[in-house]
Amino acid sequence: MIIANWKSNGGLMMIQDWTSDFINSCSPKDFYVGIAPPVIYISDFSLLEWDLDTLEERSNNKIWDIKIGAQDVDHSSGSRTGAVAIKMFEDFGIDFAIIGHSERREHFNEDNDLIKQKIIALNGSNLKTKILCIGETKEENDKGITKDVLKNQLEVVDAMDLENFIIAYEPVWAIGSGLTPDPKDINEIHKYIKDVVQSTSANNLVPKVMYGGSVTDKNAESFFTEQFVDGALVGGASLNGKTFANIVNIYSSTK
Ligand code: PEP
Repeated sequence: MIIANWKSNGGLMMIQDWTSDFINSCSPKDFYVGIAPPVIYISDFSLLEWDLDTLEERSNNKIWDIKIGAQDVDHSSGSRTGAVAIKMFEDFGIDFAIIGHSERREHFNEDNDLIKQKIIALNGSNLKTKILCIGETKEENDKGITKDVLKNQLEVVDAMDLENFIIAYEPVWAIGSGLTPDPKDINEIHKYIKDVVQSTSANNLVPKVMYGGSVTDKNAESFFTEQFVDGALVGGASLNGKTFANIVNIYSSTK
């Protein structure tokens, strides 16, 4: 699973260039690839879907579809200026949602209680895939309390319909910094996350865990070859269609 998170970047011109760069560079694949554009551009991706349909015919029905997702959702609706309700994303056939991103936790003061409300609201929705981001800050990492921090953030999993939830491990200090943990350390943390969730879940489900934080087409292979890395959440490097396609192609050839 490879997901692009554009955050508050992009524009109409960029979407057109991105689409043709991506289509010209991406090879057929048979796993989940998604893009979470700024919410106002979601409907502009119908162009992308059309082009990909054409390509599907050319590539012996290999799966080309790209899922469109929400970078975040509101847990409610009504008198909530600026918020986008889950049912509005459903109207546009949106397939996945990201919640708990560290930028939401930091800039919008989102805590476990609010994230839990979003999880409960998403459980019964038509947004099929839900991605929960967790990760420690640099200070927490330096103090050696990464696993404690992650365990605390994972307390919300008891509210999840786990079959449809994916965890994204995103060390805050790795996001947009060009720094990453050692791939072996990422692998160990992913195993830890899987163990914590499995022991919490009623039916012993082991979740998929993606890595996010300064993933590029130069370092992606080093993460994807690790056993417990089930994909990547890509920010900055996803803004270039060719680079994002390269990351998708690398995942295709390593998993
Ligand atoms: C992110 O913010 O989810 C992210 C992974 O960003 P970047 O790839 O730019 O570090």
